[in-house]
Amino acid sequence: MSNAGFTSKIIHSDRRGSIEHGSIHKPVHTAVTYSYDDARDLAAVFQGKAAGYTYGRQVNPTVTALQDKISLMEGGVATAAFATGMAAIGTTLFSLLNAGDHIVSSSYLFGNTNSLFNTFVNHGIDVTFVDATDVAHVEAAVQENTRLVFVETIANPRTQVSDLQNIGDLCEARGLLYLVDNTMTSPYLFQGKSVKASLVINSLTKYIGGHANALGGSVTETGLFDWSKFENLYDNYKKGKPALWGITQIKKKGLRDFGGTLGPEAAHHLSVGSDTLALRMDRICSNAHKLTQYLDQHPKVKQVYYPGLEAHPQHQRAKQLFSQSGGLFSIELVDEIDCFDFLNNLDLVICTSNLGDTRTLAIPVAHSIYYEMGAERRASMGIDDSLVRFSTGIEDSEDLLEDFKRALG
Ligand SMILES: *Cc1c(COP(=O)(O)O)cnc(C)c1O
Repeated sequence: MSNAGFTSKIIHSDRRGSIEHGSIHKPVHTAVTYSYDDARDLAAVFQGKAAGYTYGRQVNPTVTALQDKISLMEGGVATAAFATGMAAIGTTLFSLLNAGDHIVSSSYLFGNTNSLFNTFVNHGIDVTFVDATDVAHVEAAVQENTRLVFVETIANPRTQVSDLQNIGDLCEARGLLYLVDNTMTSPYLFQGKSVKASLVINSLTKYIGGHANALGGSVTETGLFDWSKFENLYDNYKKGKPALWGITQIKKKGLRDFGGTLGPEAAHHLSVGSDTLALRMDRICSNAHKLTQYLDQHPKVKQVYYPGLEAHPQHQRAKQLFSQSGGLFSIELVDEIDCFDFLNNLDLVICTSNLGDTRTLAIPVAHSIYYEMGAERRASMGIDDSLVRFSTGIEDSEDLLEDFKRALG
């Protein structure tokens, strides 16, 4: 199976694990705890000397199957799943950083990640936000106490593409952890491993789950980082292969102690959703491509932001790194059109937050998800008051085009 295509590999992964009654899905295991006939076996599992399940906050067979599936998608060596994408990000940083450490982060960030990093500042972790579309800005911000660099692949909502390859080279040269949030591209369009990421974050809620019916998040260890050089590891977790020391600490200090655990029912929904990731992504990207081509020519549209457009500042980079340009784009309308009126005129497109659904979604970002951060920070992220963000779904493209035509007409 190792040479099989993306989807063939993913959809057969459940039944290639232990076969439970021949079930082709991993069953939903709801038990919180696991019993052992021999107390010595229980002790061995707790001590990490034998494989097995202990307590549902730390491990669950349904969740383990999903973790393995994500590792397969990302080409990673191990994955930890969490209740949400934010739990994955927060827990990972919490378990790897200490007071006095410094992070360099892209300033083009998912809003709640931005908010979280500002909270870390109050806990003694210093953060420098930089324009990560150019490695020079990242390099200039690196200090003696810098532990990690955090970037997203394609930023939301303005679709800036980070200088992923060069930042990977910089992190390798300087021995820095490199965290890439791959939510916007998903492992079908891009693997963080290809640019030397140490850890890859995914909000499973978005493209991987894909149906807006379950929350989840993950962090995948790519196996590329030399954890023996990382100062913040506890001696307890420096056992076995060094490539797994980091994810072990994330699972123990983060998942176990913080408890942002993914539930087995959600894991099942996300796993079933992930089976069709490639099929949905092909259609989603094609729809985004067709809509942005159309809107880019429209007299009532002032600006379209989409990496698939030739005029996009990082178009060449996106083409080189990603197999397709993704399903997220934003537009600014001409001044005469009120963005609320335009949104109300759309029929097929749903006015809501979230992205990566099978349905096309739209949101006026400055007035909703980026409202709390204030006008100044919005301006620094290039978010205009009239900016509307779209996440394309899998509708028939003619119907979507017709909806936009009518709403702008
Ligand atoms: C949505 C999102 C998150 C957070 O994921 P949740 O599952 O909603 O907690 C993190 N990063 C990016 C880029 C996102 O789009």
